[in-house]
Amino acid sequence: MKSLSEKIDLKNLSPSELIEFLASFGKERYRSIQMLRWLYQQGVQSFDEMTNLSKGFRQELSQISFISILRPVRVEKAGDGTKKFLFELEDGNRIESVLIPDKARLTLCVSTQVGCAFGCQFCLTGKTGWKRDLKVSEILNQILAVRKMLPEKTSITNIVLMGMGEPLANYRNTLKATALMAHPDAFRFSSRRITLSTVGLLPELEEVLREKTPFRLAISLNASDEETRTYLMPVNRRYPLSKVLALCREFPLQRRIRITFEYVMVEGINDSSQDAKRLLRILRGIPSKVNLIPLNEAPEIPFKKPSEERVRRFQEILMEGGLTAIVRNSKGQEISAACGQLQGKSSAVGTV
Ligand code: SAH
Ligand code: SF4
Repeated sequence: MKSLSEKIDLKNLSPSELIEFLASFGKERYRSIQMLRWLYQQGVQSFDEMTNLSKGFRQELSQISFISILRPVRVEKAGDGTKKFLFELEDGNRIESVLIPDKARLTLCVSTQVGCAFGCQFCLTGKTGWKRDLKVSEILNQILAVRKMLPEKTSITNIVLMGMGEPLANYRNTLKATALMAHPDAFRFSSRRITLSTVGLLPELEEVLREKTPFRLAISLNASDEETRTYLMPVNRRYPLSKVLALCREFPLQRRIRITFEYVMVEGINDSSQDAKRLLRILRGIPSKVNLIPLNEAPEIPFKKPSEERVRRFQEILMEGGLTAIVRNSKGQEISAACGQLQGKSSAVGTV
């Protein structure tokens, strides 16, 4: 009998890898469709539940593979309905996912890494540093675990890869996971309902723009000039604003139509009328939409959020210039579930 670490975690396999895996048992292609449905539509947690597979085959499967699961060790709920799920991974590392209800939508924000290496000045995840990349199964199991806890007739409508970590720094696993999110026999999310947020790692970004990836793209701009962006986001030294935008111009998105640019507003740093005008100028010619996110403050972060008046003025300038600009006040602040507040380390850990 193989130990768990030697066995194959089925949720780490892409649909084509699953076909290959099953072929090694002499099983036909359609078995992989059955398997995907069991794993991701039914969300089964054991081979015994796969009732259209023979008992003998289920036995064989369990000898060399397993179905990984995640269970939250803590769930917190904010007054606005936002819920934060803390998961402990096999190696003891912790990650968080956030479920955000908003009118007809129910959005799940998932993590792609334990911590983050990019150290943006305004982000608590960045302060923890990078520990490791998440496996495909660990990304997908966040969705399955949260879905299992929803009341009947309630479903997650949107997925955003905006939790802990930089998705494009865990490129292969993130891409495999998003393919399963959109796969017709797996999660079946429309690619319009999956959004990946990135600081714009150029090599991976270029591939995303070139290929038919099953998600919408959000790019964290957070400044309208190189100096300010480098100050807020040190990654800008390696992958400067000008190059990120040049790439967006070079590969206009046909299907996705518009790129969302995220702009965290920080008092006195990037919130002036001049910044707004410059932002308008640098985005000219790129089909885009801007999300203005007033900074979520925290004691460890040396910045403040601008006044509502400032935010409104900034938005007006963009709108007057013909850009769609939406102010996104993050939800779930009282439980530290808002953008940039995920650290995977709630103090008191209890069972749910
Ligand atoms: N690493 C990716 C995705 C995770 S962060 C990225 O940076 O895009 C998701 C979003 O939260 C980013 O747009 C980021 O700029 C924003 N964010 C980080 N810290 C924040 C804070 N303190 N207040 C508001 N937004 C924040
Ligand atoms: Fe990492 Fe994104 Fe936070 Fe920057 S904002 S430190 S890239 S998670």
